[in-house]
Parts: sequence; C-alpha cells; structure tokens
Amino acid sequence: MSIIKRKIGVAVLLVMTVMGVKAQDAMPEPVMPHKPMELVDTLYLRNMLLNEENIIPSDNMYPEWRNSIVHYNSAMPDSFRINLRNSVMPTLNTKITDVFGYRPSRKRVHQGLDIKVKTGDTIYAAFDGKVRITAYQRRGYGHYVVIRHNNGIETLYAHLSKKLVKVNHNVKAGDPIGLGGNTGRSSGSHLHFETILMGKSIDPAAMFDFKNQKTTGESYIYRRPGSKYVENGKVKTAGPEPKFHKVKSGDTIARIARKYGVPQKQIFDLNGLNSRSVIRPGQSLRYQ
Ligand SMILES: [Zn+2]
Repeated sequence: MSIIKRKIGVAVLLVMTVMGVKAQDAMPEPVMPHKPMELVDTLYLRNMLLNEENIIPSDNMYPEWRNSIVHYNSAMPDSFRINLRNSVMPTLNTKITDVFGYRPSRKRVHQGLDIKVKTGDTIYAAFDGKVRITAYQRRGYGHYVVIRHNNGIETLYAHLSKKLVKVNHNVKAGDPIGLGGNTGRSSGSHLHFETILMGKSIDPAAMFDFKNQKTTGESYIYRRPGSKYVENGKVKTAGPEPKFHKVKSGDTIARIARKYGVPQKQIFDLNGLNSRSVIRPGQSLRYQ
C-alpha cells in the first residue's frame, strides 16, 4: 500500500475514533463503478483492520514453548503495542482487593491484581490463545493457569478451586478456564490475575478496568521505563510505570502523598479528584 493511502486510512481511523464509530460498523456501500474517495478509504480501513487481526505477534516474540516457568529473564522491548480488541474480562466481579506493585510491608512486588471472587465463580480467558501452564503450587499460586495469547502477552489466573483447561490446548477469549477459589497462599477466595509480557509482569490495571468491566482502550502501548520514543516529532522519555496505593482506614491524600514523597496535586490529578473528594478504604489510588 502506498504511504499516502496508508495516511488516508489512518486519518479515517482517527476521524472515526473521534466520532465514536466502531470500526466493525464501517461496512462498505454496494460497489459502484466510480466509488467516491470516502468509500475507498472505508474499504481500505476495513481491510487494514482485518489484516491486523490476522497478525499473530506472539509467533515472533517467543522462540520457546515451555510448560513450566511463569516468569523468566528476557530483554524487554523499548515499547510494545498490545492489541486489546476482542478481549473478555476474566471475571464479572469488580472489586479490587489488592493492586500491582511493590509492597513495603513484605519487601516484594505483588506481580498481579487481586479481584474478589466467590469460590466456584467462572473465570474466563481474556483473549484467544494457547494454554502454556496448568499447575498447582501449594505455597504460592495454588491451582493456576497460564495462557499465551496471540496478541503477545500471557495471562495468569491463580488460587483457582478448579482448572477447566488442559495444557497445550487452544482457547478462545471468553472460554471458561477455571473456577475461582482460595487455593495456595491465599486468605479468602480471590482471583490473582497477572499480565506478563516476555516473562515480566506488567500492571493489569493498565489494560483491564474491572470496576467498569472493560479494557482501558483498543490497545495499550507498554513502554519500558526510561526508554526513548518519538511523539509528534519530539523525543520523549518513558516515565515510571504507574503505581497505586490501596486506601486504608484513616488514610488521607496528604498522608498518602507524604508516604510516597509526591505532591498532593499529583494524586488529585492522576485520579480526577479535588480537595473535597472523599476516599474510602479499599479504593486504589494512583500516586505515580
Ligand atoms: Zn495477588
């Protein structure tokens, strides 16, 4: 495709995004001998999106297929665009009980997001993919499943009461892959959900909004902290990954800001709050 056509296609995509029109709604009119320019673009856009669906990034990203080792060392790319279309929320439950990130109390990183579920609640595959690991870890994940997805990330579902998929089997987004539970190192039934890019956990909250039961967008661009990228012709440096604080009883914005050494305004801005906003225990607040 010529670069001009491509640019036109992107422009149409942008216009459609602004207008809130879904790409799949962009069906072409019946073919006419002299198609107006707009129609050609719509067709081109549709084909571009279809082609994109057929690209399977994971084929090129992972040289190995192993049925063990959840996390492993690998060089992270400076950036990677994760396609979030055709996703299904792993659980219908909306209550986050613990966030991703460093826990000073335990001096370790919590590598996933905890979502309150009841034992027996169905857990669903987030995207199409292939089951890489099904295992049991008495002192850790309990019954857990790892799926490698076509879009290049892997997802992990832990503390299950039952696994419903077999290793090396293909799954579709939304297929039941297990039942929620309280196995392994877990106090109270919950789903520990991880999103893993090339061996490293990244924050699931950047992609999945459990509270509102939707993804954060059509795609998410992971940028390695400190890496350089160009935006609108300017070189920029990727900032640190977002960090969250789980509000405890008695917490105030001022106290949270002091704890992490950030301005209160930063917390207000990142969470769309103002000085009159009320915060509640259990709520996740982004502070970085
Ligand atoms: Zn967890």
